[in-house]
Amino acid sequence: EKRVYLFHEGNAQMRSLLGGKGANLAEMTRAGLPVPPGFTITTEACNDYYAAGKQLSEQLLDEIRKALAELEAQTGKKLGNPSNPLLVSVRSGAVYSMPGMMDTILNLGLNDETVEGLAQLTGNPRFAYDCYRRFIQMFGDVVLGIDHYRFERIIENVKESRGVKHDPELSAEDWKQVIASFQKLVQEQTGSAFPQDPQEQLRRAVIAVFDSWNNQRAVIYRKLHKIPDDLGTAVNVQMMVFGNMGDDSGTGVAFTRNPSTGEKTLYGEFLINAQGEDVVAGIRTPQPIAQLAEQMPEIYKQFQEISQRLEHHYRDMQDIEFTVERGKLFILQTRAGKRTAHAAVRIAVDMVQEGIIDKKTALLRVDPDQLNQILHRRVDPDAQLEVLAKGLPASPGAASGQVVFDADTAEKWANDGRRVILVRPETTPEDIHGIIAAEGVLTSRGGMTSHAAVVARGMGKPCICGCEELKIDLQRKELHIGNTVIRQGDQLSIDGGTGKVLLGEVPLIDPELSGEFQTLLEWADEVRKLKVRANADNPHDAAKAREFGAEGIGLCRTEHMFMEADRVPIVQEMILAETLDERQAALNKLLPMQREDFVGIFRAMDGLPVTIRLLDPPLHEFLPDIEELLVEITQLRMTPDSDKRELLKKENLLRKVRALHEFNPMLGHRGCRLGIIHPEIYAMQVRAIFEAVSLVKKEGVDVQPEIMIPLVGHVNELYEMRKLVEEVAEQVQQETGVSIPFTIGTMIEVPRAALTADQIAKEADFFSFGTNDLTQTTFGYSRDDAEGKFLHQYVDQKILPDNPFITLDTEGVGKLVSMGVQLGRETKPDLKTGICGEHGGEKRSIQFCHNAGLNYVSCSPFRVPLARLAAAQAAL
Ligand code: PEP
Ligand code: MG
Repeated sequence: EKRVYLFHEGNAQMRSLLGGKGANLAEMTRAGLPVPPGFTITTEACNDYYAAGKQLSEQLLDEIRKALAELEAQTGKKLGNPSNPLLVSVRSGAVYSMPGMMDTILNLGLNDETVEGLAQLTGNPRFAYDCYRRFIQMFGDVVLGIDHYRFERIIENVKESRGVKHDPELSAEDWKQVIASFQKLVQEQTGSAFPQDPQEQLRRAVIAVFDSWNNQRAVIYRKLHKIPDDLGTAVNVQMMVFGNMGDDSGTGVAFTRNPSTGEKTLYGEFLINAQGEDVVAGIRTPQPIAQLAEQMPEIYKQFQEISQRLEHHYRDMQDIEFTVERGKLFILQTRAGKRTAHAAVRIAVDMVQEGIIDKKTALLRVDPDQLNQILHRRVDPDAQLEVLAKGLPASPGAASGQVVFDADTAEKWANDGRRVILVRPETTPEDIHGIIAAEGVLTSRGGMTSHAAVVARGMGKPCICGCEELKIDLQRKELHIGNTVIRQGDQLSIDGGTGKVLLGEVPLIDPELSGEFQTLLEWADEVRKLKVRANADNPHDAAKAREFGAEGIGLCRTEHMFMEADRVPIVQEMILAETLDERQAALNKLLPMQREDFVGIFRAMDGLPVTIRLLDPPLHEFLPDIEELLVEITQLRMTPDSDKRELLKKENLLRKVRALHEFNPMLGHRGCRLGIIHPEIYAMQVRAIFEAVSLVKKEGVDVQPEIMIPLVGHVNELYEMRKLVEEVAEQVQQETGVSIPFTIGTMIEVPRAALTADQIAKEADFFSFGTNDLTQTTFGYSRDDAEGKFLHQYVDQKILPDNPFITLDTEGVGKLVSMGVQLGRETKPDLKTGICGEHGGEKRSIQFCHNAGLNYVSCSPFRVPLARLAAAQAAL
């Protein structure tokens, strides 16, 4: 089977075989664009390599030799021929782009002889030696595993001995000296000379690229982006073109639209007289692409045309790498550009309006997971800010946190629950775990397409790049901006949308939906079958949810209303009551407060259903901590003239807290079990709800309350609670003379409820799957402890494919959900069903809910837009 394809033999459809880069190079070659010729070694060859215990097969080597011969024929150059040497780049190219995660080698084919040939051919010995030393450096690092800094140190030493600061000041002779030292270093470190045979160089470079598929950063990146580990990478071998051949040469990267905002303008950067890696690595800060129009107007025009062509061809925003060699433009790569969620939405909507794609494609173009970004918080525009510096607005959103200067500390502190801002001169792929851990990233060097910018944008983290006013002292862990000194651990804020670096912690505000976003979501609403509701338990959240398009409240957790500071003492009174009368007195105090809450929520949700869940958590959650109480009591006892009444009160409290203590509260006296043992509590809540209903009904509010009973496992529990709700409704109707519309349903959140859903449905008007508890009780994992204790490792070791508290376990928990829906509808064909666990806001779980035939999902207000889009994608 064929394992090597010349560029003109491939096309864009062969992505899984040729990798993204290879497929696009092939496609561009076919389209007649100025692409340097080359060939691609397939991802299957990579998998063969691993399957054979990291060996290249003879057959593959043979195919490579043949492809190389073709390439030599095409270019008229020959690998290793001193009088006309072919030089190639060897690059990784996975199916899904993994920017900077794998290895690349440039200028391959140079050796002690061909370098002289290159010098003669170009008439530029300095250039030739510079190329050769770069090659030794990359090959030494990537293939031979010699630390990068050892090479850098040699260059530093030569510069020092010449009394110069910058690389361009070194002469041909200086580079020759560098090369000699590099070769000595290679000999010392590896015990053999730097390989002179270009065929061997190529073979080892291919192996190194295959190996880099499994380097640590690539593995982490794949895990983060859920890219399968068994895809393998392709290798692209391509004729070198040089952007560093003088001032009529250069290299750059450009996006066909602004990847941060989505605006339709050519957006990018270039460097005159430089090689590609200089731009991507963020080592030199490049110039904006618009300046290319002034410096090389013809090239700019040609590039503009090509970029338009590419965008139309692929019907998507492109990220294009180009090089100019002595006044001739080459396209080295094109791919769908990474973009912020904001840009993704705008580009999708604009492209529909420009007639490039249809609505369905637009809906599929935006990843619901990415939308969290748009729904990012930003700096309160009314806040007093102290702006310390301004850099490039590389990835929007605002963040505050403690400054750290290295990725390991970022990770460590974040694991300790601290919020950190990672500050680096520039980031490299080695820093990826720090970027994951940080709230935001700030760099002093690098442009909008630097590593930090690309990675942060992909993750939706705020990022500022190229903030050159920062003087970072990594040794002392200090950051100097003008006269301000910021040390590790100090608070700093960044606004990735404006590029502003701000002193201290700043107030952040909630996001709003842009016009394009509204449009996209309206298109989503046209196709989705699932309704989307929100989990909200106060009028503010309810209003926010409605603004984001929620079609009702799917879960109002009433215990949150009990937990407000001024209510806790009354709730405690209720819990500690010795007699029913005492308890009723406390409940009577709570009643008007609860009523007020519901009035506010009903008003906010005028015309939409509101599902109110009666009290769920164990009562002792409202009482003080046993240990703290013991300390207080001991202190009182040891103080000679302490208040005896106070002491008695505390001791009494301790007794109560102890009596209520449970070893396993999550499986204890909570949910409807509370309502059955203390019906007066639920009765008060229901009364508060219905009194609120009659109040707002008189105001003309269209109110649709749905009373939901938690943690039902046996139909009898629901039967009892239904009777109670109906009795109170009857009473309130009599008292107010207002007829009260309502339905009664239950949560399905323990396995027995799902298993006996046909019986339970007899007493229920609706089901809402509480998949947080259902996951907890199905797996038998404590939802409060599992993640920290073992679940993390379970996912790492692939014992579980995902954290089931985040992504619904469709095979187990999902089976119970499907069974619950099916059994419930056997009893009541039009039973309304929904989900209100955290999974209701997660795209893959939403897909499942759609397939399982649920009527709605309910999620936190900020996730409502995401759920609308995910529900639409599920229906497409
Ligand atoms: C659930 O268990 O999924 C649920 C929504 O209820 P809570 O998270 O309040 O237990
Ligand atoms: Mg629950």
